[in-house]
Amino acid sequence: MKSAKKVLILGVNGFIGSSLAWRMLTDTNWDVTGMDVSSGKISHCLECERFHFFKKDALADNDWIESAVRDCDVVLPLVAIATPALYVKDPLRVYRLDYESNIRVVEWCAKYGKRIVFPSTSEVYGMCPDAAFDEEQSSLVLGPIAKERWIYSCIKQMLDRVIWAYGKHEGLKFTLFRPFNFIGPKQDDINSPKEGASRVLTQFIHNIINGKPLKLVDGGAQERSFTFIDDGIDCLMKIIENKDGCADGQIFNIGNPEMKFSIRGLAELLISLISKYPGYADAAGKTVVENVSSREYYGEGYQDVPRRVPSIRRAREILGWNPKTTLEQAVRLTLDYHLLHKDYELERSFGR
Ligand code: UDP
Repeated sequence: MKSAKKVLILGVNGFIGSSLAWRMLTDTNWDVTGMDVSSGKISHCLECERFHFFKKDALADNDWIESAVRDCDVVLPLVAIATPALYVKDPLRVYRLDYESNIRVVEWCAKYGKRIVFPSTSEVYGMCPDAAFDEEQSSLVLGPIAKERWIYSCIKQMLDRVIWAYGKHEGLKFTLFRPFNFIGPKQDDINSPKEGASRVLTQFIHNIINGKPLKLVDGGAQERSFTFIDDGIDCLMKIIENKDGCADGQIFNIGNPEMKFSIRGLAELLISLISKYPGYADAAGKTVVENVSSREYYGEGYQDVPRRVPSIRRAREILGWNPKTTLEQAVRLTLDYHLLHKDYELERSFGR
């Protein structure tokens, strides 16, 4: 029998890492090693004997990371700051963590002949005017240097290009994936979102239930395609499985074009859904929605993405993947988790 895949997840306590580790432990016989600075989102994984957790820092524990890369089959370097407010407020912190720590991992994967499944980002397309962003055809359109928002996009693009070059010239086995606004339970802490530093869904839920106004940046006409975390994880599992090498050397958008919503539309949907949860109707009914300029909300260095919709033709055709969840279902599951304390993930059990 083929021995079980050994997967290394750097940043396992993040939104994607924690959901992915749990899925691997419940649905496969893979051996999962996870590393992070904290473990609050993976308490249920810690109970599984095929899960090995190490509390380490991506910027400090280089020796440990290098030897973990050497000991596994596949590496997912998920350590990164991925919140727009921080790109503007602390771009050097983003550079050090997102670029410097990850470029080393890429080099170790090349050195030790390990497969890397790397999180690129939908941000790389920037302000691309295409109706649906295509992995092979779309241009990557960033703003001026003084608009610090683009540092994250630029870093990820550089890493994509270095990985691509290692693949082409030195035989690195890789897959790049680009998540489009993943949402779901455990994305951020809704009890203490830092104003402007959490993703929009978390910020809006927090504000509605705490009687604070919803702030629509520049009017909220900008559009995003939201993707339920479980659909995203389904796609990632197919990539990691890599049947007949189908994902090797490929780039995949992971998103749900059917879940395209304006931020204003998301605000309206949330107010209406939250009003149906026991004890929250009053707060939802009283929610004030106000406009705020992006300069006021994020600062000078911000520029928005007016429209972000993926083409998922490649994931459909090559991986046979399709997202299944509607925005309403995704938001309901997220609200059930936060407002009713229902964790649908725990209903899954090991070894299915
Ligand atoms: N946004 C907003 N109000 C908020 C938080 C965010 O209008 O309180 C907007 C933000 O300007 C952006 C969109 O919502 O256009 C999505 O923001 P998020 O931080 O979730 O991620 P992004 O898609 O920009 O990476």
